[in-house]
Amino acid sequence: MRQDIFSTALARLDLAAEHSSAHSETIERLRHPMQMLDVSIPVRMDDGTERIFTGYRCRYDDTRGPAKGGIRFHPGVTASEVKALAFWMTLKCATVGIPFGGGKGGVIVDPRELSLAELERLSRGYIRAVVGAIGPATDVPAPDVYTNARIMAWMMDEYSRIVGRRSPDVITGKPVSLGGSLGRDDATARGGYHCLKRLAERRGWNPADVTIAVQGFGNAGSHLARLASADGFRVVAISDSRGGTYEPMGLDVPAQIRHKRSTGRIDVHGQAISNEELLELEVDVLVPAALESVITDQNARRVRADVILELANGPVTPEADRILHAAGRLVIPDILANAGGVTVSYFEWTQNRAGLAWTLDEVHQRLEAIMGSQFDAVHERMDQVHTDMRTACYVHALNRLGEAHEATGTVADFAPPRADAKSAAQPQEVCASTG
Ligand code: NAD
Repeated sequence: MRQDIFSTALARLDLAAEHSSAHSETIERLRHPMQMLDVSIPVRMDDGTERIFTGYRCRYDDTRGPAKGGIRFHPGVTASEVKALAFWMTLKCATVGIPFGGGKGGVIVDPRELSLAELERLSRGYIRAVVGAIGPATDVPAPDVYTNARIMAWMMDEYSRIVGRRSPDVITGKPVSLGGSLGRDDATARGGYHCLKRLAERRGWNPADVTIAVQGFGNAGSHLARLASADGFRVVAISDSRGGTYEPMGLDVPAQIRHKRSTGRIDVHGQAISNEELLELEVDVLVPAALESVITDQNARRVRADVILELANGPVTPEADRILHAAGRLVIPDILANAGGVTVSYFEWTQNRAGLAWTLDEVHQRLEAIMGSQFDAVHERMDQVHTDMRTACYVHALNRLGEAHEATGTVADFAPPRADAKSAAQPQEVCASTG
């Protein structure tokens, strides 16, 4: 039976807590979502019938800022999955140091079975159902699996009508014409690419000698391949759901992107390979950018890449993590490697709240500054705590969450003073001296 995904997420928390300076109260808080809404959304279908959909919104933690996380429309959505994803968003935002907590939402639906009008009614219905729980200063949603910029536009419009004022800052991932940010399209890949560049600098790599294989040639994977090959890295293999191609001398990535756009397929230019074979190629960097759980205890021993850059969410299972770490392979974990997307979402929210529109250059510069510095900080933490990079990333995030939590007080501040202890400064003395 598949292990409950939320329990798995908490098991990784316990592991990292051992190395973190965060107070045990912070860790205990992070074991419990702040709020989990379970809503029913009635939708009038095109044939006149009414269907009731189940939706969720989880505000996991807002210690460091409003909750942030996408809304997923998928038949496989569960409450456990929504909580686990909201928990990971909490850690992801803390990892890169943006002032957000973690949230997530979802509706159990296969959107491909709905007409456009039904999809709009469902999207607006979802917002009516969760309106009391979201807001620019409480919980800011975004797109996720099977939701997109148009759905965000409907949702922003519905929220604005309900509260009676235009509120672009309630949701991110909007079309640029409605307050979306420039640079959101390739933000996830660009963030991952900055991690790779920093690693290349640390290891003294010459890009022309570094070979890269990318599983998944969609939004995240194709932009990563484009950015890397433009800087001279050798992208030797790519794949999509139908399989892939391998060319040891390096692929023509722009030509592959044009081919994929015009035909929906990868151009099998070199050797045809399966997705499984791609994962086991002898390359320097492997980039899983498609599905979760593709590297497991079944195939991890056959992975030959020195570095695995997790652009997808959760492509390496916990068992595979242990095998890869023992084999000396570096996994740059998803909560760091794919945090470029949420970072540019933060830029969108910031611009909306300030009434600004940054240029593409400004977005790129700010993204590079955050991703580069946070990659370095996590790398240094890894060297300090002698763990794999995922654990170091959790520790880095937990320390930040701990600092924020401890700033509001823990048992150390509130426990009754011991009779033999010297009393601390009295509150009235502090007030007197500060006027
Ligand atoms: P996408 O739908 O644009 O692309 C997914 C690609 O994976 C497609 O090319 C598809 O053909 C391919 N694919 C599907 N099944 C496959 C298989 N069995 N083997 C190999 N390839 C397969 O999706 P995306 O936005 O690029 O997201 C990819 C991953 O990155 C997901 O895990 C997503 O959660 C994660 N992610 C994306 C973003 C973002 O901003 N796009 C942000 C954070 C995380």
